[in-house]
Amino acid sequence: MRRQIFAVITSVGLALAATCVIASIDEASSPHDPPWLAVLGYLTVESANGVQATGDLEPEPLSQPFELLGETVLPGDFRRLSWSDNQTFAGLDVAVPVLVAHGNRPGPVLCITAAIHGDELNGIEIVRNVMFGINLDDLNGTVVGVPIVNIHGFQRNSRYLPDRRDLNRFFPGNQTGSSASRIAHSFFNSIVVHCDALVDLHTGSLLRTNLPQLRADLNNEAIRDLTRGFGATVVLHSSGAEGTLRRAASDAGIPAVTLEAGEPMRFQPDEVSHGVRSIRSLLNHLGMDARASLWEEPRPIYYRSSWVRADISGILSSRVQLGDTVKKGELLGNITDPITNTRTEIVSPYHGRILGKALGQAVMPGYAVYHIGIETTEESLQPFDPCEQFEQQHDGDCPWPDIGEVDADFERNPAIDPEHGGGIEDHRDFDGEDG
Ligand SMILES: [Zn+2]
Repeated sequence: MRRQIFAVITSVGLALAATCVIASIDEASSPHDPPWLAVLGYLTVESANGVQATGDLEPEPLSQPFELLGETVLPGDFRRLSWSDNQTFAGLDVAVPVLVAHGNRPGPVLCITAAIHGDELNGIEIVRNVMFGINLDDLNGTVVGVPIVNIHGFQRNSRYLPDRRDLNRFFPGNQTGSSASRIAHSFFNSIVVHCDALVDLHTGSLLRTNLPQLRADLNNEAIRDLTRGFGATVVLHSSGAEGTLRRAASDAGIPAVTLEAGEPMRFQPDEVSHGVRSIRSLLNHLGMDARASLWEEPRPIYYRSSWVRADISGILSSRVQLGDTVKKGELLGNITDPITNTRTEIVSPYHGRILGKALGQAVMPGYAVYHIGIETTEESLQPFDPCEQFEQQHDGDCPWPDIGEVDADFERNPAIDPEHGGGIEDHRDFDGEDG
């Protein structure tokens, strides 16, 4: 796709004279335009107020047809394509719908994926609202929306694939690996490699909920710029666990973020509308839709975060809400033993903000209950070592010292993977990132 877009830009350049194009790109750039867009040559057909920056005499460049999944989408067209992972029995293919909105004018390809975990419903609604809210006349570039990536899990109300693996631990996948790995490989190579930027939508894992937040590798300049498009959405720095779609896309040079919002198994209107507003703002930020409203409030950044865990078993009752600011020593909640009636208080070990929390439920010692973000200024961002943080907070060695050196072909078994908590389908200890 990049090659194709490059060809578009080249032909436009020939038509208009290359110097002219370069000059107009410079003029149209705003201080907010991400540098990677300039590198890709996407900047900026229209300035933020919709006024043509190249002057009235120059014709608008037109998009080339967009090729995806063996289909051709013409400029100004909205199409429903389908992707099949070929992982079903006896030729009973399950087609995964892929929505494509292809603007009349050239621009980036933004991909939005949801329900890689089949029980995470908010993202499905976010994709629907964003995709069907696009006015093709206003669109520069292409938006690809995949509302339900893990359609097998969705049909069973399950986070997982039919082989009980977590698809979001197997990207970019392997053509000859396990079923999960093959599905990941097919999705990555059929769709993701055609994206110039990716937003992967998630919620907390079962019986946990997340404040709407981005997970993003803030050490990567292009990704850091992408996070500036989401308005007042909280940003939590993390480079992303190996095997996640976000990490695999970023490793392939495609700036990617995860947008977490709410809890699984429910449609939550407030979380959905936050997600829709933030992605529409991103469309404006990327120069793809000047009429989408830009959410200009600054984003709070959390460079560090930590889970507070239960030390005893019992029934959890919370005193704090998502988004609450808490002080060190403040009461977060109680755990009550239903047999002995003893009650234990959970207090915050940090000044910070509640970014995620467990819902009221029976908990065991070690269960992650509150996810607290510790706010940072963008200026103070430093390269971050998760092992160093772990060793500062716990007695003992970092459990994932070689995380960066995992053999890509090694099919990791979640049951023995310290990064991702407990065993396969062990929701109760899943408190890793990209829930
Ligand atoms: Zn998820």
